[in-house]
Amino acid sequence: MHMFNLLKNQNNRKFYKIIDQVNNFSNLLYKYSDNELKKLTNKIKIKIANNENESEILIESFGTAKEAIRRALGLHLFDVQILGGLILNEGKIAEMKTGEGKTLVAILPSYLNTLQGKNVHIITVNDYLAKRDSELVKKVYKYLDISVGLIQQSMNSKERKQEYNKDITYITNNELGFDYLRDNMAINIHDIVQSKLDFAIIDEVDSILIDEARTPLIISGPSEAPINKYIISYDISKTLYKNIDYEIDEKARNIILTDQGILKCENILNTNNLYSLNNPWIQYILNALKAKELFLMNVHYIVKKQEIIIVDEFTGRIMEGRRWSDGLHQAIEAKEKVEIKPENQTLASITYQNLFLLYRKLSGMTGTAKTEETELDKIYSLEVQEIPTNKKCKRKDLADLVYKTEYNKWKAIANECYDMYTLGRPTLIGTTNVEKSEFLAKILDEFNIPYNLLNAKPENIAREAEIITQAGRKSAITISTNMAGRGTDIILGGNPYIMTKIVLCNYILDIFHLNKTYNSKSVESNIKTQLNKITTKDIKTNLNIEHYIEEEINSVSNHKEKNNKIQNIYLEILKEYKILFNKEKQEILKLGGLHVIGTERHESRRIDNQLKGRAGRQGDIGSSRFFLSLEDNLLRIFGGEKIVNLMQTLNIDDDTPIESTILTKSLNSAQKKVEAYFYDVRKQLFEYDEVINNQRQAIYSERRRILKSKFTRDCILEYGESTIDEILNLYKNEKTTKGKIILIQKIKQLLSINDKFLTNDILNMKIEEVKHFLYEQLIITYDLRESYMEQLRPGLIRQLEKYYLLQQIDKAWQEHLEKMVILRESIGWRSYGQQDPLIEYKNEGFQMFINMVTYIRQTVVYLTMRSRLIVKPE
Ligand code: ADP
Ligand code: MG
Repeated sequence: MHMFNLLKNQNNRKFYKIIDQVNNFSNLLYKYSDNELKKLTNKIKIKIANNENESEILIESFGTAKEAIRRALGLHLFDVQILGGLILNEGKIAEMKTGEGKTLVAILPSYLNTLQGKNVHIITVNDYLAKRDSELVKKVYKYLDISVGLIQQSMNSKERKQEYNKDITYITNNELGFDYLRDNMAINIHDIVQSKLDFAIIDEVDSILIDEARTPLIISGPSEAPINKYIISYDISKTLYKNIDYEIDEKARNIILTDQGILKCENILNTNNLYSLNNPWIQYILNALKAKELFLMNVHYIVKKQEIIIVDEFTGRIMEGRRWSDGLHQAIEAKEKVEIKPENQTLASITYQNLFLLYRKLSGMTGTAKTEETELDKIYSLEVQEIPTNKKCKRKDLADLVYKTEYNKWKAIANECYDMYTLGRPTLIGTTNVEKSEFLAKILDEFNIPYNLLNAKPENIAREAEIITQAGRKSAITISTNMAGRGTDIILGGNPYIMTKIVLCNYILDIFHLNKTYNSKSVESNIKTQLNKITTKDIKTNLNIEHYIEEEINSVSNHKEKNNKIQNIYLEILKEYKILFNKEKQEILKLGGLHVIGTERHESRRIDNQLKGRAGRQGDIGSSRFFLSLEDNLLRIFGGEKIVNLMQTLNIDDDTPIESTILTKSLNSAQKKVEAYFYDVRKQLFEYDEVINNQRQAIYSERRRILKSKFTRDCILEYGESTIDEILNLYKNEKTTKGKIILIQKIKQLLSINDKFLTNDILNMKIEEVKHFLYEQLIITYDLRESYMEQLRPGLIRQLEKYYLLQQIDKAWQEHLEKMVILRESIGWRSYGQQDPLIEYKNEGFQMFINMVTYIRQTVVYLTMRSRLIVKPE
């Protein structure tokens, strides 16, 4: 009822009708045999090939998938899940709350789109989720004859290629991006692993397209950084005076050199162009000045063991291992007189924005996207559609409690944890970073409250997901940073499936005396009886127990394996736990369900909502409360003067939370300021990367053409002809004979044409004749070169051609990337306050790109025309 009302409200009768039809079709399939069901895959494919009625195809494929899900998992898809599937299929974002069953939703559009012949990629935030979800859906697709691939970080390129070739592939955003970049650095066509980017469904889409989109993906290699430049620039920065040689823009954290400053630097350096792209100094000087004026020790960074370590200004967290980019880190190292570590040279890079825009069709799902609707639409052209929950959400979001000091806030949080613990209500506490979660953990230790602590470190993700599944058990207290356990929902009373697996696993490890911590007393007696049935003989030794159990449990009970003992025991225990956990769930529901505590407003409302959304899953009762203090970073940095005044005038007891409308308003506006700030950062990154993106596409497609080509001779001749054209263009416009002669010499040298042809002859020809003459010479010279090389070693010339082509493209492109960084930096300063730097960046970047392409052609032709030596291939 609830959903239909919402659907009608949204004027979505169209969907309502389709959902009905999907359900009806699916019901018809009930009596089909497994084999008959499987045959539908081919039937629908044929319908698609025959261009039959599209909406019929949609209904049939969704209905078929729904029935397969029922058979494989025993679950009946909810209508809202079908609605979600329809939205994804339309290339939009489906906002569906946590626990609504998005993993299964993705199956519907995946199935249809793969039937349509598209490559389908399901993108997740981590390896664990990719594996978990692919294993789940594999069971469903078995009924449909569709292959499922999975790519994990540890896989080599052969395995990757194989997995990409499956109908539907599960992969993380990170692996996808790096595979894309690596493919475009491949030297051999067979090394390319990725297939076409047709259709992607991004799970937790806000996290990938927004949170992760702040930093680009980069493949880098070592470079020869001019270490002395940092030191010289540091010395120079000491001789420059504020407001005379340079000015500081505090707000934008920028520094500009004045004309006088520029002159002074040029004099010291004995150069006439500080901005030269070939021997650039400007960014070294500016970085040195930034290090001098804007980056302060113990505020923005600390020095620990001769290393500069960044302090995150917003969270106050130490960011071990991270480095400021574009030479700033080195400038600070020079200032602090610690070892200057060379920069890595970017070999290839792309932003997530531009990576995902490569898909012909893109869609996504998450519990929280609506607040970022504008950005998703502007940058990705993705519309966000809210899907109503299957059951009405009964969570109570309680009013914020604001304390005067951080200390009092944490005290209040610990008290609340204590209350919940004694009451028996499961509680999840979200923190903004690891330090804070550890801080709270210490307080809870003092209170003697048991808890689980999760911090979203990649190595803990799998274990954390297990903890999260049990975070809904009675009296469970779970402290977690905001990313930890994302993608796993908290089930009140606990998750019997995972629990059974854990118990089974521990018990088996115990049998082998591998796991001393196993405590059989904690297991209910029936379950214990079941476990005792397992003997050492039942288990194949020396293997990965978890993997083994997984396989045993999931093995489809075909006739041969009717007596799968482990599976039987698993099912018995599962039955017990289901009863047990359900009882516990009822108890917890009476107590008020899961309680969520926020310890700080996050950098966007979206992340707050994500945290709150943990409670009240599938119509469960639950609550959330945020504890804040006037000393929180959000208020401190973005709160403005009002808050400072408020703090000074407030004259109340520290333990009493403050209620004030001014405060609530300030909080909201501070949070919006932070949201806007980060949006700006991403937008700028996107706009600047867009310039490079067009160039990248051009270079990558040229590269791909060469890689694929079996006859690169055409490519070389084409480059030769273009080069001739380019130089003749100059020739045409050249007034003086002397200038013309220089140009002819240049062509002759380039094409390695013998001097016996008189330059004078050319001078007397019409331009068209010159062109034809040179084209002819190009072919003649190349034929000669080719037959000479063929004598040395047959086939060598083709190898050489490809080698030169790829090598020169890659080298030039990498240098170009570096120059673009310098350009971006320097252009910002040059045109400050006059023209839109982005436009200048575009124009100059374009010119540089043209120059690079010309340069590539010329060098390739030059090198191939001159290849004499036998280059040992490999
Ligand atoms: P989300 O990604 O939306 O947070 P999941 O896909 O992780 O949710 O699913 C959460 C839980 O709901 C899983 O245990 C799943 O098996 C269960 N679930 C999904 N769809 C259904 C359904 N139609 N009926 C019953 N349980 C379902
Ligand atoms: Mg999910």
